[in-house]
Amino acid sequence: MDVLEFAVTGTHIWYYYCCKREVWLMLHQVNPDEDDANMDLGRFLHEITYARDRSKEITLGNIRLDIVRQEKDGMVIGEVKKSSKYITSARMQLAFYLLELKGRGIEARGELLFPKEKKKEEVILTADIEQELAETTAAIRKLATETRPPQAKKIALCRNCAYKEFCWA
Ligand code: SF4
Repeated sequence: MDVLEFAVTGTHIWYYYCCKREVWLMLHQVNPDEDDANMDLGRFLHEITYARDRSKEITLGNIRLDIVRQEKDGMVIGEVKKSSKYITSARMQLAFYLLELKGRGIEARGELLFPKEKKKEEVILTADIEQELAETTAAIRKLATETRPPQAKKIALCRNCAYKEFCWA
């Protein structure tokens, strides 16, 4: 992949809010440890595809579409999460997909459910969130042009990260 010729994806957005270094490593196609049982399969999933025979069914990147329903005022998409630990990533990724849908003429809103925490968050594509997504997308493009990855910082995500050997061995 030409690092200057790539489409920013929901997966990039998700990681950007947790670990910019991981985004850089993905963009520069640094191969993670293939034998790592924690290998993040999400990045291999297609970002957004429409099932040909069922036009309402959608698959969105590395999120499980636990929630896809049509309501009177539009489509609702979202997912059920175990915890709200990475809520900013989840929120912005879902917002990114809402923007993708908007670009295809589909008005939708998002829902994140955290049953264990008895919590629900609605994700609406506001002008502010669209602006933030534009800035984040530009920041990811800039990150791709950097010759070195950002410094590794120990975070909870490192424990299950496919790059942990690369960063911390
Ligand atoms: S191991 Fe940690 S610092 Fe390295 S890419 Fe993964 S999350 Fe980021």
